[in-house]
Amino acid sequence: MTFALYIHVPFCLRRCTYCDFNTYAGLLSLRPAYVQALLGELTLRAAQFPAPATSVYFGGGTPSLLPAADVRRLLDAVRDRQLLADGAEITLEANPGTVDLAALRGLRQAGVNRLSFGVQSAQDAELRMLGRIHTWDEAVQAVRQARRAGFTNLSLDLIFGLPGQTLAAWQDTLNRTLDLAPAHLSLYALSVEEGTPLAASIAEGTLPAPDPDLAAAMYELAGDALHRAGFWQYEISNWARGHTAAPEIWALPPGGLSENIGPVSRHNLSYWRNTPWLGLGAGAHSWLAGRRHANVLHPRDYIRLVQAGELPEATAEAISRRLEQGETMMMGLRLAEGVGAARFQARFGVSLAAVYGATLRRWQDWGLLHWDGDRARLTARGRLLGNQVFGAFLPDDEA
Ligand code: SF4
Repeated sequence: MTFALYIHVPFCLRRCTYCDFNTYAGLLSLRPAYVQALLGELTLRAAQFPAPATSVYFGGGTPSLLPAADVRRLLDAVRDRQLLADGAEITLEANPGTVDLAALRGLRQAGVNRLSFGVQSAQDAELRMLGRIHTWDEAVQAVRQARRAGFTNLSLDLIFGLPGQTLAAWQDTLNRTLDLAPAHLSLYALSVEEGTPLAASIAEGTLPAPDPDLAAAMYELAGDALHRAGFWQYEISNWARGHTAAPEIWALPPGGLSENIGPVSRHNLSYWRNTPWLGLGAGAHSWLAGRRHANVLHPRDYIRLVQAGELPEATAEAISRRLEQGETMMMGLRLAEGVGAARFQARFGVSLAAVYGATLRRWQDWGLLHWDGDRARLTARGRLLGNQVFGAFLPDDEA
């Protein structure tokens, strides 16, 4: 079975203008106590692991602010408890401007085998508007150093649909990013979140509001460019360099499995397939054995609770079978592989057609979904309108 372990690192050097993640600037002095608390939470939760972790993901925040020695301690602690599967994918999110060759070598030696760099843009003016701490040149240097340190599985994140961003600037960002030959790309449309400095700048008129039609054009432009460059789009926001060329945009992966495409994110596949995961750290969420829980948000509260020997949970809810089915559809349809009828039947003991046949046929009639009795997947057009489809699978009281 696949089982994903997430470790949250809630520290950043400063807040980006668009960020509403659970992360804090100015708390780096908490790092040693926080790492100790992560080790403590691992001890408290070791019995909850249903199987050794097939993937580990250090997310944030800025996990590359953790010294490599701490990353090694954490991974060793998981290994020593026999809770790390052989060949596990171990990803760490890194920000250019926070890593050097020595640190990257240390991470590689600690067992990290995949890096996800938050590059966001190749335009320095856009990076400044976003409040990023790095320039494009620093991102290029970080990628080169990662390769020298022995990393081959490199993923780069970009954001599009920025205030004032032109199609030409986005095309240039894509071209320069492809020149870096990443294994994987994640492209996200900017979401302007209430309470962020970016939202305030837009409200004051200092920055123009992003244009959703232009953002849609950018998404399509990226899809074409990445397809031509040999990437498969295997999820609404994610592309992997294929072992072979994709026959078309949003093609069904070989054998119907994303893993057959190339270096996909195996950790994130666990989320999209709605299989169990455990999150450690401040604000981390978990989904295990029919129950979802979330930890307390602030690192100080988190440290205090773990030091007292308590589970640092803030909320927990039981997930009904009906909701689990709906979430399995909602998450699975984000993937080009969609949701297989055999896998659904094996998991829930009831056929996909019996539970969702009418809904699937309705979306198929509207041209947003393929449903052939074996597999349900969004069409290439449905991929652009996914949010309208997903809610249809949730029970009425959750939609
Ligand atoms: S680096 Fe990431 S987590 Fe940190 S402030 Fe910026 S967007 Fe937020």
